[in-house]
Amino acid sequence: MYQKLINPFFLYFSPSEEGIKIGCGIFGAINFENKPVFPYVYWGLRAQNHRGHQSHGFLTYNGEKFYVYKNLDLVPKLRSSAIQEWFGRMPGSIGVGNVRYTTSGKCDDASLLEGTQPVTASIDGLKLALSFNGNIVNTHQLRKETDTRFADLPYTCDSDLVCRKLLLELNRRKDLTSAVNECMRNIDGAFSVAGITGDGDFFAFKDQHGIKPLCAGHLPDEATYALSSETVSLDMNGFERDFELEPGELVTVSKEGFKREKVIKNPRKAFCAFEYAYFARPDSRFDGKYVYEIREEFGRNIVREYPDIVKDSDIILSVPETGDDPAMGVHEESGLRWERASRRHRYVTERAFILLNRERCSTIDRKINILGSKVDGKRLIVTEDSIVRGDTTKVTIGKMRSAGAKKVYMFVTFPRIIGPCFYGIDMATYGQLIGSNHSAEEIAKIIGADAVCYQSIDGLVRATGQTRDQLCLACITGKYPTPLAQKMADEMKEKFLKGYEEKGRIYETCETSPQT
Ligand code: SF4
Repeated sequence: MYQKLINPFFLYFSPSEEGIKIGCGIFGAINFENKPVFPYVYWGLRAQNHRGHQSHGFLTYNGEKFYVYKNLDLVPKLRSSAIQEWFGRMPGSIGVGNVRYTTSGKCDDASLLEGTQPVTASIDGLKLALSFNGNIVNTHQLRKETDTRFADLPYTCDSDLVCRKLLLELNRRKDLTSAVNECMRNIDGAFSVAGITGDGDFFAFKDQHGIKPLCAGHLPDEATYALSSETVSLDMNGFERDFELEPGELVTVSKEGFKREKVIKNPRKAFCAFEYAYFARPDSRFDGKYVYEIREEFGRNIVREYPDIVKDSDIILSVPETGDDPAMGVHEESGLRWERASRRHRYVTERAFILLNRERCSTIDRKINILGSKVDGKRLIVTEDSIVRGDTTKVTIGKMRSAGAKKVYMFVTFPRIIGPCFYGIDMATYGQLIGSNHSAEEIAKIIGADAVCYQSIDGLVRATGQTRDQLCLACITGKYPTPLAQKMADEMKEKFLKGYEEKGRIYETCETSPQT
């Protein structure tokens, strides 16, 4: 079916933004010596492919047209013989790209391709291209507002809404700062955005809570600047990191460098805590600290929090690869041997967490191999980043038991997930979260562990170097940083606990919340 839709070198080019079918890792770059930026965007996205496997897209601008390439799956390898061809197809000294998995909209191949970013829109001679990371909660309200001017264009994903809303405000106000201010004040949700205007302005902004990461950097030539979800893409391209955008901040770029503007005064920062435990690459940095260092500290914290379990254990195993860094911390703090007896198939690259139900267990089964003789008769501490549904962890524990493990203690760095995420991580119902209606003891029974030892919220916060009120901890505390998300979560929780069966992602199906 996939082959029928798209051939492997499917290129979707459009002569104008009108014809472009509209499209969560972001990378964008600009060069002020008129050199092509496509290679930076390409490598910037490849370094961030862990942030979205379902589709990818590049867009470049040469001052006249937007040139767009979109396709499903991983960012492809480029054969060296095809590089010149790519340069010809993606000309221009400004570009943005996106890797995506969907947290809104449909998931069939055609819909995924339609929802691939970057997206574009135009009205009254103004045009805009935009790459977005996040998720919008008040979609109904925004659709009503934007459909009046974009009735003929289908809505395929949240980035369409942000793009159209920004364009309408830009048309009305003729000023990017006040247009962005309107977006920040009227869009409920998480959005880190990098974009290009028809005038060739390259800009980026974050919602007023700064939920998703977005950083800025430059090349030593002082003529090339970049914006990226994670620092790893700056590193891979040879850029120096300059700063992480603040919540409610707009950044524009000129020959002189970055111009930073605080569009919302005194915003409440709520950076996603799950980035530290699961999402971000370990070699990315937040506030100057490598994510892997923070994950090691998570491991040390759990050892301090569960001394009796540590005494009852022989060796440490990690669920590769996000369990590896905490395993080092557990090893350092406990003195127990970290046995590398759980190995991951390097080329099965699908992230089990973001796969659909039917694919999840079989993938984890084929992905992780347990070295039987190393665990036979042993009491194991197994480090894991999180337990969302519990089914993948159950399969992994089953494999350890089959290999003869005497005890399995799960050390989980992200505290028990009790509520859905409204901001761009696809865990959007209570029903899919094993932690929403089960205690740690019940979860241990269900997944076949002797105990599930979650890191405490305080421990997690301390290790990140942030304070509680600088982080989004909504899915582990039930306290959401944005009002509509809080209202929907509270309403659905009440119904869920009474036995109501959720019909899909809460922000897409919630009937009772007024969304206007
Ligand atoms: S709800 Fe959880 S996963 Fe979602 S943004 Fe907040 S901390 Fe991150």
